[in-house]
Amino acid sequence: MSIPAPAEGVADLGVTGMAVMGSNLARNFASKGYKVAIHNRSAAKTEKVIAEHGDDGEFYPSETMADFVASLSKPRVAIIMVKAGAPTDAVIEELAALMEPGDIIVDCGNSNYHDTRRREADIRARGLHFVGSGVSGGEEGALKGPSIMPGGTVESYKRLGPMFESISAHVDGVPCCTHVGPDGAGHFVKMVHNGIEYADMQLIAEAYDLMRKALGMSAPEIGKVFEEWNKTELDSYLIEITADVLQHSDPQTGKPFVDIILDQAAQKGTGAWTVQNAAEMGIPVTGIAEATFARSLSGSIPQREAARTTLPALTVDTPIDEQREAFIEAIRQALYASKMVAYSQGFDLIRSASDQYGWNVDMGAMARIWRGGCIIRAVFLNRITEAYERNQELPLLLSDSYFAGEIAKTVKSWRWIVSFSALNGIPVPAFSSTLSYYDGVRAEQLPANLIQGQRDYFGAHTYHRVDDSAGVYHTLWSEDRSEEKQN
Ligand code: NAP
Repeated sequence: MSIPAPAEGVADLGVTGMAVMGSNLARNFASKGYKVAIHNRSAAKTEKVIAEHGDDGEFYPSETMADFVASLSKPRVAIIMVKAGAPTDAVIEELAALMEPGDIIVDCGNSNYHDTRRREADIRARGLHFVGSGVSGGEEGALKGPSIMPGGTVESYKRLGPMFESISAHVDGVPCCTHVGPDGAGHFVKMVHNGIEYADMQLIAEAYDLMRKALGMSAPEIGKVFEEWNKTELDSYLIEITADVLQHSDPQTGKPFVDIILDQAAQKGTGAWTVQNAAEMGIPVTGIAEATFARSLSGSIPQREAARTTLPALTVDTPIDEQREAFIEAIRQALYASKMVAYSQGFDLIRSASDQYGWNVDMGAMARIWRGGCIIRAVFLNRITEAYERNQELPLLLSDSYFAGEIAKTVKSWRWIVSFSALNGIPVPAFSSTLSYYDGVRAEQLPANLIQGQRDYFGAHTYHRVDDSAGVYHTLWSEDRSEEKQN
């Protein structure tokens, strides 16, 4: 044993998993004056934290899980920060075997909320608390103040909440952490946060692409535009870093940095989870879905190769020479409009899950805890909190008076940008799908009546009549086409 066991019950809480996220989270707790037990499967990482940061606070390292658990004061709080999936299950099992009723196991990894629900039920049955908590902000957030989205019981939050709130980011003195709801609520909300992040990034990328292809602007010139946009309603972390990335030069070639990056976007899966869950719950998160599929399309190399040489553009040239400034402003407005739709859709999904699982999620509070620490942090989120303060039961974020007014100001520009892109062969899947959603959700009449007619024709799936919406009807298509009322 190279690490001697610490004294029993000495630490306020512990973190197991000393890779970048876990060690930074442990250092954050220590910087706030907590006595932090630390552990990693392989002791080398634990030793490295002590060697490099041991003097930054009170750390209690352990080599074995038994020593780690014994070093925690009761009721014990053990935070897991390891690879999501099977490794997390293995660590939970190890901890649960060593802990006592009333102790709290917290998973701060990027777990699927279905796993969290299963684990919570299992651990609860063993008399322990299990908290699945979303943590956003990457490495720097974990160290300096992330946005934290804990699920689990109210009782566990009483013990955990003050600690989490103290290490979270703060905006206007308010912590970016709150109790989201029971069992998987925290990880669900974190998943939707990531889905919205996908949409935000795709919309920014489409705006960049339009300036590049329609106006022939260079990356640094576009970076300057984003710098200006960051002084408007779009003020956010992602716009800020976009301006920075676009103005960075490749040290090897001197070319704009983005020009030396291969145009294939990777993904770790939370965007796809958001889309899968939305599809299962019947919630149209079209902005997030198109953003996720746009990444997939960028990586579809054989398909792109096959299409590039065979599919004609047949574009309609629509010059914008004299309207350059107006066009750039229209792109900004389209970005703002699409962003409002993407967030509205994301909040719809949270509402749906909250209703389905009885989580009772406070929607305004979710926007509040995303204002700092996380990747989608933005001034705009204040407006969402205010909207839900005006009406807790808001059926659609876009229908709030502020958002309805804001989006109305952008619609003409939005239509110009989407139609221009279509005519000129520039792909804008997120701009256009959110505009279609906007037109769909506000439409007096949708063609779903025809779809119901078709479904009844081939599958006797029935329909409701406009003059009897409660009644269920079927037409005897292959007989005499008379109509039957079925209830
Ligand atoms: P990671 O690369 O996801 O995982 C490495 C850690 O997991 C190491 O401590 C490793 O221990 C441990 N581990 C792997 N398999 C294990 C097993 N079977 N039993 C016990 N421990 C095992 O680390 P990370 O990037 O710091 O992320 C940690 C968690 O935070 C993940 O769930 C991740 O999705 C989530 N997260 C990451 C970010 C980010 O920006 N990176 C942001 C938010 C959330 P050894 O050293 O012994 O191999």
